[in-house]
Amino acid sequence: MEPPAERSAHLFIGKKNKKTVGIQTRAFKFRIYPTKQQEKHLLYHIHLSKELWNSLLAKNKEKYWEEDRFLSKSEMQLMIKKSDLYSQTAQVLSHRLHNAIRKKTDAKKQGITCGFPRFKSFDRMKSLNYPQFGFFLGQKLKVTPFGEICIVKHRQMEGRIKTLTLKRESSGKWFAIFCAEKEKQAPEQHTGPAVGLDLGLTNFAALSDGTMVKNPHHFGKWAKKLGVAQRRLSAKKKGGKNRLRAKLKVAKLSEKVANSRLDFLQKTAKKLLSSYSFIALEKLRIQDMAQQKYGKWINDASWGMFTNILGYKAEEAGCQLVFVDPKNTTKECSACGTLVEKTLQQRQHVCPNCGLKIDRDTNASINILNRATAGIAGSNACGDGEKRTPSLKQEAQAFGQGVIH
Ligand SMILES: [Zn+2]
Repeated sequence: MEPPAERSAHLFIGKKNKKTVGIQTRAFKFRIYPTKQQEKHLLYHIHLSKELWNSLLAKNKEKYWEEDRFLSKSEMQLMIKKSDLYSQTAQVLSHRLHNAIRKKTDAKKQGITCGFPRFKSFDRMKSLNYPQFGFFLGQKLKVTPFGEICIVKHRQMEGRIKTLTLKRESSGKWFAIFCAEKEKQAPEQHTGPAVGLDLGLTNFAALSDGTMVKNPHHFGKWAKKLGVAQRRLSAKKKGGKNRLRAKLKVAKLSEKVANSRLDFLQKTAKKLLSSYSFIALEKLRIQDMAQQKYGKWINDASWGMFTNILGYKAEEAGCQLVFVDPKNTTKECSACGTLVEKTLQQRQHVCPNCGLKIDRDTNASINILNRATAGIAGSNACGDGEKRTPSLKQEAQAFGQGVIH
């Protein structure tokens, strides 16, 4: 299951709103095995949706240049009717385009530059959507107009199924993704202790109770293989059969790396959420950091993805997440508050004032927890959005330059 891309983790959730009732949407992803004939048919429909998207987009642009307006919904409907694409799928497509254009024009009014929707190549069109009808899930998955497709339901689905997406990954595998709605349950009273979390590179995370969560080296193995495959791909001649084969290999390995990373992050989040009722983290400016030169390291460690996963799972687990200002969490002594300068190679925090001797990351995680709990008592625990350099960035740079081994 993919985590929602844009879900804010900056929430106070959990015990406070124990009686929360509402609707919760969940995605369930299952592998499907279309026959050769079905796959051909599916690919043809993906081709049709690409064509429809591009022609709708072209017409909209034309309209804009000629009449300074975009196509109305009914004008788009007329174009949809001419397409051979299944009507439900075509509806979603035009809806998406309409929304994307509206978003663009709204942004323009506010003086924000925002990209216009783009024309799609076949590679970029990967899925067919069914917003309400056109599918039935029994032993097999029956989908109009493809018929019954073999599906492996490796887990139980909960809730009412609302939508279906048929998706083709670059590796050539097909998936059915269902979105189901369920009544939200009030979370159980969580009795676990509070903890501070310092995300890092030496270890994936240091906990304020002294626990270390090691970085997963198992996907390092896949990443290495991926690197080799990528280099081989770039050496192949364009347009050749060998290139296609190499491209597929890269896609398959990328999928393995992404899956094992996601698996690690989800398991770690689950473990933390079941053990602790209150988790404090540094408020990181991941976006800024990932765009810099050392982005690869940041992305590999996947902190952003991890905080997202924690964010959307915390509520159900009855756990409270708090983000704190990251300033000086590494320097400050967690026992007496003295600022102790240390180089990146110094893995120990040794305080000249009170004599505390402790792992530097554990020290930081205790500071993070202290800030969060002080915040609950009155001050601003969620950080104040100050534009200071987080300590992690410093560490990431050192890794990029190969200082720490
Ligand atoms: Zn001290």
